[in-house]
Amino acid sequence: YVLVGTKVSEGHQNYVTAYNMLTGIRVSVSRCNAKVKSPLTDADFRESHKLAFDISGNELTPSARYDFKFKDYAPKVFRDLREHFRLDPADYLMSLTAKYILSELGSPGKSGSFFYYSRDFRFIIKTVHHSEHKMLRLILREYYDHVKKHPHTLISQFYGLHRLELPFGHKVHFIIMNNLFPPDKLIHRTYDLKGSFLGRLTAKDKVKQSQERAPVLKDLNWLQNQEKIQLGSIKRQVFLNQLEKDIKLLQRLNLMDYSLLIGICDLTLGGSGPRGLSVFEPKPEINNNPTSLASPRLNRGSSLAYHTGRSHSPTASSFTFYHDLGGFQATDESNQLIPEIYYFGVIDCLTNYSWVKRLETEWRILETQDMKQEKLISAIPAREYGERFLKFIKLEAQPKSKV
Ligand code: ATP
Ligand code: CA
Ligand code: CA
Repeated sequence: YVLVGTKVSEGHQNYVTAYNMLTGIRVSVSRCNAKVKSPLTDADFRESHKLAFDISGNELTPSARYDFKFKDYAPKVFRDLREHFRLDPADYLMSLTAKYILSELGSPGKSGSFFYYSRDFRFIIKTVHHSEHKMLRLILREYYDHVKKHPHTLISQFYGLHRLELPFGHKVHFIIMNNLFPPDKLIHRTYDLKGSFLGRLTAKDKVKQSQERAPVLKDLNWLQNQEKIQLGSIKRQVFLNQLEKDIKLLQRLNLMDYSLLIGICDLTLGGSGPRGLSVFEPKPEINNNPTSLASPRLNRGSSLAYHTGRSHSPTASSFTFYHDLGGFQATDESNQLIPEIYYFGVIDCLTNYSWVKRLETEWRILETQDMKQEKLISAIPAREYGERFLKFIKLEAQPKSKV
């Protein structure tokens, strides 16, 4: 049983914020779901709705436990996106709001964003900076078109964009996205890769100290540990082709600072996921079965052998990279399955060049006076960022012998 995050229930310091977020989502999403569908227009991408909640309630909004305002952005577009990503509308609301329980991961990155998991760990609520919020609104049309054209995109699946306003005027922007990691599998190693090396090492003491779940390692740890993305020629091509298309979009939109998040589940080790939903017993004889191994895609029968208890979101399985037990199973150079599953995606992709520069300048003033260092960490524009990123991932996806 692996515990992830802290349960946010009554009495927790962020309970009111969480409660208000979920109430806003519940009311606005169910309202939008009830509306008749019609083809999206440009206005739908710019649309926003404001709701004012108070303790007594009124003819427009039901009563809530606290006073707050809630804003829902481009509801019809996100409804369409959720449908595209095969989420069941009732399921989505149930996962998020049925019990009003979230699990708070705190703020794992440097940005100060907070992360919350839905009770079933399928969804992540991330509070974002106002600039990221504006960015998502700005690129929504392009993101939408990209996702429609490339349904197997590795870029984060966005399900909602909202804003909460607390009584003293404090505004919290947040997005809802897919949790790349399955609720029922233990992730043995996690990496956040950018193709950059500066500051890209998770220190040893942090690695040891984190017992709750695998610590998030970075580029230098990846190299130190001599990791490789193990994909045979068939799957490698599928993966890199998609990644190239995704990075092209991010370059065009002038976005950077994103990373490839990779969680690796070693099927020979077993163990259960965040909620201990199921314990799966590896059955290596199935993986050694030459007929099931012949297929570059995971044989459904063998996938089920690892699967006991609640299944991973059945809806996601129609997407290439979330197909094998919710991920993408490794293959060797002859395209035979290896008992390792990758859970990966391109995350944190709403930052643009000017913002990175600002962050890095602040960081520079705070952390270093060293001129040489300054050159190394200076921000590079989106095109170069994307090129460096792709170059690194491509190299790491090549078979060891060829490097
Ligand atoms: P920074 O800007 O400092 O990098 P951030 O606050 O923007 O941090 P992210 O980079 O988005 O945060 O994510 C931080 C960590 O949260 C990731 O390394 C990963 O462990 C986890 N995480 C983020 N998005 C997802 C996701 N979609 N699925 C699973 N885990 C995620
Ligand atoms: Ca990041
Ligand atoms: Ca960030």
